[in-house]
Amino acid sequence: MNRSNLYYFSQLSFFILIFISGCTSKEVSPNISGKSDASIEEPIQYALVIHGGAGTLKREDMTPDKDAQYRSALDSALTIGENILLSGGTAADAVEKTINYLEDVPLFNAGKGAVYTADEHHELDASFMDGATLEAGAVGGITNIKHPISAARAVMLYSEHVMLTGQGAEQFAQEQGLDTVSNTYFDTPFRYEALQKVKALEKENLSLSRSSVYPDKKFGTVGCVALDTYGNIVAGTSTGGMTNKKYGRVGDSPIIGAGTYANNSTCGVSCTGHGEFFIRYAVAYDVHAHMAYTNIPLNEATHKVVNQKLVEAGGSGGLIAVDKFGNIAMTFNTPGMYRGYVKPGKRVVSIYKDEPN
Ligand code: ASP
Repeated sequence: MNRSNLYYFSQLSFFILIFISGCTSKEVSPNISGKSDASIEEPIQYALVIHGGAGTLKREDMTPDKDAQYRSALDSALTIGENILLSGGTAADAVEKTINYLEDVPLFNAGKGAVYTADEHHELDASFMDGATLEAGAVGGITNIKHPISAARAVMLYSEHVMLTGQGAEQFAQEQGLDTVSNTYFDTPFRYEALQKVKALEKENLSLSRSSVYPDKKFGTVGCVALDTYGNIVAGTSTGGMTNKKYGRVGDSPIIGAGTYANNSTCGVSCTGHGEFFIRYAVAYDVHAHMAYTNIPLNEATHKVVNQKLVEAGGSGGLIAVDKFGNIAMTFNTPGMYRGYVKPGKRVVSIYKDEPN
């Protein structure tokens, strides 16, 4: 190659290089948690995400009819929440009403359809947090309030406390005019069957290790996180806890920082999974803390907490989250999680791991 050819060749290579780097620099940040929602830093109008529990949810164990029922319930829940946000309602109202609906659907382990305790009744837990004020409310071990999430919100709004439990919580909820029901209202045959199966397993294997005292690895807790048009983030979680729970056991769902957290400066989070791990690893708060202290985006924070820290510890489950820009994360380390989200122009409902996130 003579000198002038060499000159033209090097100029050409230079332009090719510029062209290629121009193309690749348009790529969005890596999709670490497997979600399709790229990290953006422009606030969007609103966003709402829900879960109906994570766990060993596999296509082969599900009939087409059951599959359709779950999807339709998740879709209806999204519509309830989105309509509130679209009409200028608050994230707090959207979260409460969306969860109220999920509490009424027997498919989920919250309100009607809650799992059974070892002595064959229901004890419900819920929590609610406002990311604008960092105010929060929670109830634990309640037996006769139809909508535990409304009781949790009432504790936040109308009491000077964060968490009320048992009979005191029930008395407070009744004084606030919330609907009461008999404990048998929460009964469903399929949860009763699940209890009998778990009891049989427990009998068979009395030497179950501490981390496997709950062999039923299907968590049906419900949760919702919303960002409203005013820029406020609210998170809520409601559950019957874990099948065969004993001794007044309370899980992560009513614990602020474990099962639920919201802070307008970062994100809102609602969790589902083996509560003992979520309590010990302060999972919901940990997602916020990663974002606040290390300035990483939401999907990276949820990935670290759910797919690294929890997996190393042996804790199964997942979470949903929304950041202040309206980015969504639906991150889980189980084969599936009932989940969905809605934001302007976009709606997703999924169950299994290989589906859109
Ligand atoms: N996290 C809940 C608990 O441990 C269970 C669930 O998510 O279904 O009580």
